[in-house]
Amino acid sequence: MEYTATVGGLADFLNDWAPIGLAESYDNVGLLVGRREWPVERVLVALDITEAVVEEAVQYGFQAVVAHHPVIFNGLKKLVGQSDSVRAVERAIQSRIALLAAHTNLDAVADGVSVHLAHKLGLEDIRILDPRAHQLLNLTVFVPGEALEAVREAVFAAGAGKVGNYDRCGFTTHGVGTFRPLERANPVVGSIGKEEKVDEVRIEFLVPTTRRLAVEQALFEAHPYEVVAHFWHEHQGLLEDVGFGAVGYWPEGKTWNEAVQTVKSSLGLSSMRHSAPPEGLVTCVAVCGGSGSDLFEVAQRSGAQLFITSDVKYHRYFDADSRCALVDVGHAESEQHTVELMIARISEKFRNFAVLGAETRTNPVTTS
Ligand SMILES: [Zn+2]
Repeated sequence: MEYTATVGGLADFLNDWAPIGLAESYDNVGLLVGRREWPVERVLVALDITEAVVEEAVQYGFQAVVAHHPVIFNGLKKLVGQSDSVRAVERAIQSRIALLAAHTNLDAVADGVSVHLAHKLGLEDIRILDPRAHQLLNLTVFVPGEALEAVREAVFAAGAGKVGNYDRCGFTTHGVGTFRPLERANPVVGSIGKEEKVDEVRIEFLVPTTRRLAVEQALFEAHPYEVVAHFWHEHQGLLEDVGFGAVGYWPEGKTWNEAVQTVKSSLGLSSMRHSAPPEGLVTCVAVCGGSGSDLFEVAQRSGAQLFITSDVKYHRYFDADSRCALVDVGHAESEQHTVELMIARISEKFRNFAVLGAETRTNPVTTS
């Protein structure tokens, strides 16, 4: 897939990598400030967008800032410099710098925050810790026989019919469709007030939730009828490559001290908070970048002896026992590798771009 060297091209690439449809409902991701047609050749990447980060972008001639945390999270009712994030937005607009975010959508994909955190810790055989259900939809469409191929091609191209290692998956049955055009109709076939019988084909496809809009748009463009007879229903399938957290193995196993040293050196930590050490060697480790302590039970059930995340509350530590220890490495520390990941992926796709990490430190938390 080729992308244009514009803000829109960059937004489209991010959406193909970490689809916006995978973001949590409270989140606010994608293009947040700027216009799709603005040209881009220099991209600054940061964990957070602060006023200082936008200032750095202005100073060094970047036209876009891509971040993990959305700079606009709740609705902005006024832009009068009342907070750092508002000033960041104002400065970006003044300087025509686009701001984009890939947050919980990048947490949810296999090539995303938690799986790469697991790689960073040297884990092997990594899988998603909490795969999500209900990610597939079933689309049924009724189409006149002569338009069958055009409709199939259009919806396949938009992302329908891809299941695991197969694509162009679908099911076809032939039948007779009936309809009667009423007074204001503009029918392709038949005439006003007369019931028509037409040979039609019923086609069905599986569609990932994230492709629903694109597939529907392609269907409407390719289908010859004024009213496209179609319906969606939820498929109870599970997409194993989408979900939160990751779990993997240190095949040799590590003593508690070795495990602590590995986590600290992999993430550049001087200290970390944790519950009592687990019994025996640590082989299975679950992780979740960012505030992931809600996944602790899932991590325990996965057989992990360590669950590494951040923003762990005091009372959560009481849920830990001798089988699985709970570890808090700090929010920014658990996600800092996301900047390298974004730089790598954007550079691979946009070979002529200069893509750099922000020099501005954005982590507001300091330990002394
Ligand atoms: Zn975060």
